[in-house]
Amino acid sequence: MDCGQQYPVDRIIYVCETCGGLLDVCHDFDAARISRELFDQRLGSLQTPYRSGVWRYKELVYPAVPDDQIVSRPEGNTNLYHSPTLAKWAGVKTLYLKHEGENPTGSFKDRGMTGGLTQARVLGVQRVACASTGNTSASLAAYAAFAGIEGIVFFQNRQIALGKLAQAVAYGATCIQVNADFDRNMTLVREVADTLGIYVLNSVNPFRLEGQKTIIIETLQQLRWQVPDWIVVPGGNLGNSSAFGKALHELHELGLIDRLPRLAIVQAEGANPLYRSYEHGLNGLEPVHAETIATAIKIGNPVNYAKAVRALRWTDGVVEQVSDQEIMDAKALIDRQGIGCEPASACSLAGTAKLVSKGIIRQGETVVGILTGHILKDPEATIQYHSGTLADIESAYSNALHQAEPSLEAISQILETRQAVS
Ligand SMILES: *Cc1c(COP(=O)(O)O)cnc(C)c1O
Repeated sequence: MDCGQQYPVDRIIYVCETCGGLLDVCHDFDAARISRELFDQRLGSLQTPYRSGVWRYKELVYPAVPDDQIVSRPEGNTNLYHSPTLAKWAGVKTLYLKHEGENPTGSFKDRGMTGGLTQARVLGVQRVACASTGNTSASLAAYAAFAGIEGIVFFQNRQIALGKLAQAVAYGATCIQVNADFDRNMTLVREVADTLGIYVLNSVNPFRLEGQKTIIIETLQQLRWQVPDWIVVPGGNLGNSSAFGKALHELHELGLIDRLPRLAIVQAEGANPLYRSYEHGLNGLEPVHAETIATAIKIGNPVNYAKAVRALRWTDGVVEQVSDQEIMDAKALIDRQGIGCEPASACSLAGTAKLVSKGIIRQGETVVGILTGHILKDPEATIQYHSGTLADIESAYSNALHQAEPSLEAISQILETRQAVS
């Protein structure tokens, strides 16, 4: 990542032999060709691969790859919602929510997987694998099936959101539930891959992060290249945070944006190793045992720590933590707007509100929060919140289900006496 050692693009390697750090994809950008106009011309294109919200920016993602090798659903082209109601609730003038749950399999992981499976095809590998809290598996399973490559996914032993498990099974991946948590599975998948010659598609894979950079690029394009003050993102394994830092750094170097927004990474209190490190000046990571209702970020030993620190330094970024209570309340508010997201995504709104209350984000500033996953990924968490059955969580914004006999009288009674949802 920063020792300067380089490897050819067709070599399968995840960790630098010199410094032990993760690798970056280094581009030799064709600066003369790259422009806002080029990307704007491709908006609304029906042409493959440019109709994808990842490959529209091919010159920034993987310039040299032949178009016929690209594995694309296509992904991206997700909505950027302007929400005055949620802005007011969080205490800022302008809040946008970029909904990455609107990708083909319902999470931002698809933007990474199109990069990862494309590279798998370039390399000619037969099998790809990942450890996952759920969404990476769902995405890998779908993209591997689409590419005709065998997908193998390692699930943890507890708390897998139902929507994600169902997807991986249905898309035909070899699904292995390992009796261990995510962090142990992450090490295991790397061991297994090295020994059995399987290509790893976790976010240790730098081609995934190249695809995820486009969350930022597409957001900026949707904002007509006007840079917001803040970008707020949930942090688990910190792949997304790392990709965001790289995207912003490159866009700035290429002159596509004239200043950098500040990055705010938000973790769950029960899975907060980056937050703890931030409190101590970002001088190293101490893994934690992770527990949170936001299963997508239930990660105690994030592999992309060093790259995330780099992203924070590039963007004068900050790290915040929020409780499960704050996450579920923020989720209920996002859901009630008709937008909806899975628990981890709600860190963006909960974290924004917290940073405003601390005076770090100022009231007049413009914030883009990233919603990382779809509301249907984790129906159990939603139903339990609204029925008030989550342990240690108060359902302040619950919308209780009514039971009725099939009669006009019973229905009228409910409609006349219920508390209208505000
Ligand atoms: C993977 C995931 C995250 C965490 O992203 P990292 O890149 O691991 O930090 C957050 N939310 C959802 C819904 C995810 O699927």
